[in-house]
Formats: sequence, structure tokens, C-alpha cells
Amino acid sequence: MEHQPPPRREELTAIEAAADTIVAIATPPGRGGIGIVRLSGTDLTGIAGALLGMLPAPRTARFARFLDAEGESIDAGIALLFPGPNSYTGEDVLELQAHGSPVLLEALVERCVQLGARRALPGEFTQRAYLNERIDLAQAEAVADLVAAGSEEAARAAVRSLEGEFSRRVQELDEQLATLRVHVEAAIDFPSEEIEFLSDPLIGQRLEAARSTCEALLSGARTGRVLNEGLTVVIAGAPNAGKSTLLNRLAGHEAAIVSERPGTTRDLLRERVLVGGVPMTLVDTAGLRDTDDPVEQEGVRRARAALARADHVLYLIDAVADAAGGQFGIDRGQFPPSVPVTRVYTKCDLRGAGAPRLPEATGSHNMALRISAKTGAGLETLALHLLSVAGYSSVEGGTLSARARHVEALRRCHAALEAARTALRTVQAGELVAEELKAAQRALGEITGQEDNEALLGRIFAGFCIGK
Ligand code: GDP
Repeated sequence: MEHQPPPRREELTAIEAAADTIVAIATPPGRGGIGIVRLSGTDLTGIAGALLGMLPAPRTARFARFLDAEGESIDAGIALLFPGPNSYTGEDVLELQAHGSPVLLEALVERCVQLGARRALPGEFTQRAYLNERIDLAQAEAVADLVAAGSEEAARAAVRSLEGEFSRRVQELDEQLATLRVHVEAAIDFPSEEIEFLSDPLIGQRLEAARSTCEALLSGARTGRVLNEGLTVVIAGAPNAGKSTLLNRLAGHEAAIVSERPGTTRDLLRERVLVGGVPMTLVDTAGLRDTDDPVEQEGVRRARAALARADHVLYLIDAVADAAGGQFGIDRGQFPPSVPVTRVYTKCDLRGAGAPRLPEATGSHNMALRISAKTGAGLETLALHLLSVAGYSSVEGGTLSARARHVEALRRCHAALEAARTALRTVQAGELVAEELKAAQRALGEITGQEDNEALLGRIFAGFCIGK
């Protein structure tokens, strides 16, 4: 069916964007038992009258025929009206539950467009909920995370954030900072007593308390980010070390080609897997060896680029062919120093009784695991290791859904608090402390959207699917 595409976000003036009625299919594409078309606008009386022949009573399921311009039925189903402001978007919302046929749902949307509605942009329903102060920005993002959740853990974390848990904790920290600022600003207002004011232990204590709240939030948010966006783990090692075999084991199917001839995996293979409910992207690389084969050279170049972007590297060493791990000594220099590496000895099932000893792990920064992809030995330990690398620990009350943007903002907040502490301890300069506290609060405000800016909003809501 021919139809007008939705306008691009930048084509709408702010007034248009806020005033018109939007419509979209809210259920996923494809066929299903029920499909839902949703409308939101300041006044849906006209559209409801023409489409349903009446205005349904608020929040009551009403069986209705959905009518075309000639008064013929497009379909029949349930109509539900949620009058604003107590609706998802804060405006009048009309939900049409029809039969789940893509063609039919499209016809319903088209009919609504005919009646004056406009096709919604991705995330526009949620954007309206935010603009009408039904939810804050972190909650809006949680909606997107919930829809996109790749694991049960991630979905649960998103629900908690959606219920405002994350925002509430950010708010608490914000209040701590506000109180602190009042004290510091007061000190500045009385210059003769400034030093005295600033050396009041209460100020130091409050600053410490805010700093530790920020730290707790940061560690919870980091885990949340991993839950949402996953950890990227690069599997490196000499050709034939067993990289593809391990990838297949972890992914649970034959994603990479396993072969006894070195150099088979020339391209990067990415697999999204769930390890203990946590999404991870595993990247299988070609070996890092020097080669004259241009195709392999390209593989090595890509492997190096992937290494530079990895959260973690598993370096596989053939426990039989290279028990001393000599190749690791050569390759180690090629990894960016900031990326943590775990050595994994593979093919341990092939080691005979007299095989040379393998190096022992000496602490968390020098891990050496042993596995056999063939028998499955050591894979459990490897999975637990990856989880701990991901910073995965259930913080009190569970992890919270958070995005890289939140972690970034919390990090800036934390850095500003550190600077405030230094200013307080060393120079005892109220102006400097106040400035840093202000910066800390500004960073926090970005999370819940109190410090919103147009570009950021555009980017966040554009990441939604249409109909949300
Ligand atoms: P890659 O080049 O590092 O990707 O290595 P592959 O995964 O293709 O494995 C090379 C060879 O080692 C294949 O013949 C695999 O079947 C074999 N292999 C890999 N892991 C194990 C293991 O744990 N035990 C045994 N016995 N063989 C393995």
C-alpha cells in the first residue's frame, strides 16, 4: 500500500511536533493474533467519531467497528481511550486492538492519517511522555532498553529503572549536592569567616557522603551498561589455538569454520551470546601473525582494530603445541595496554601425563585458565571469569538499567566531586569548591534530563522503534 513516510525529525517545528495527533502500529511487524494501532493527541474526539462512530468511555474496553470513509468496516475489535493527562503520553491516547494482520493494521493507520493524524517518529510516544513530564529521561531510556532487552536480567533491570529506581537514586545524590552547595555558598557570602566555614567538619563529611553515593551509583550503572550493551570480548591467539572452536562452544552452534589448517578464519566473526544472562559480543579474530597473503593481511588488520576496541581479550594458547606460551610473549606487545587480557590454555584434554607444567594464575591480573572445548572442562570457570570481568555482581536491590551516557555523566560527576575535595582540603577556596559542586550537579542533571539539550533528546528518542 502506498503511503507517506513519516516526516524527518528536523522537518518538524517544535509547535507542530507537540500539537498534532500521532499514529503508529504499536505491535511488532508480522502477523499475530492481535495487532494494536495507537494514537496520541490533545483531542481525539474528531478522529474517534469518524473512525468508531462514537467516543469510548475512558479506560473501558469497548467493542467497536473501525470504519473507512464510506462507513464500511476495515475491521472490528476493541477500542480503549485513555484521556490525558493520565495516559502514557500525558495526552489523549486511543488504542485500537485489531486483528494482527500487517495489511489491515496499515489500512487502519492510513485511515487515521486521512482523518488528520500524522505517522509517529520512532520513540515519539515516549518523547511526549517525557515532554509532558510523565517520565524523566532516564525512565524514557529504560523504555527503549526494556523493548530491546536481550536477556531476562536486562529486562528486569530496565523495569526497575522504568519504575524510577535509578532516577530516584540520582535524585538523592542531587539533593545531597544541593545541601552541600548551600553550605559552601553561605561560606562565600561571608568572606571574613570563609576559612572557618570551610573547615567545618560537617562540610567535609557531606562531601565524602556524596562522593560515596556517586561511587555506588557508578558501579551499579556500569553493570547496567554491560547488561544493556554487552561486553565485547575478543578471542585472539595463534592460528589453530582453538579460537573458532571456543566461539562455537560459547555460541552453541557452528558459527565459525573449524579446520586443522592454520589461517582458516580470515575475517572477524561476531557472535552475540548470553553468558549467565549477560549479553556479550564475542569476536573471533584471525591470528596476528605476519603473512604475505593479502587476504590474511586484511584479517590481521581487522583483528588489530577489534583488539583496540575490546573490553577484554581472551588469548588462547594451545596447551600441547605451545605449553610455554611463547607466542603470547610475542603477541602481547600488539595489544593496547589498556585492554585486560586473560590467557586461556586450550585442548587440555590432549595433554598426556608427562606434559610440561602450565603456568599457574598469579592473581586477577595474571589469569591463566585451562579449558577443553572438546570435553567442556573449564568452560564453567571461564564463564564465571567473563562475568566478573564484566563487573557483574548483583548490587543491592539488583542492577539498574543504565547506558554509557549515564556512566559517562556519573563519571564526570565523580571527577568534579574529587576536585571539590581537593579544593576544600588544600586551598580552602570556597569559590573553587562551589564551582566543582555546580559541575557535579550539572552532570547529574543530564541523566534525568533536567539539563536537557535538543541534540541529546533527538539522539535518544531516535533510537526507539516506531510506535513506542
Ligand atoms: P583457530 O584457528 O584458533 O580458530 O582453531 P580452531 O578452532 O579451528 O581449532 C583448530 C583445531 O584444534 C581443530 O581441529 C579443532 O577441532 C581442534 N581443537 C580445538 N579445541 C580443542 C580441544 O579443546 N580439544 C581438542 N582435542 N581439539 C581441539
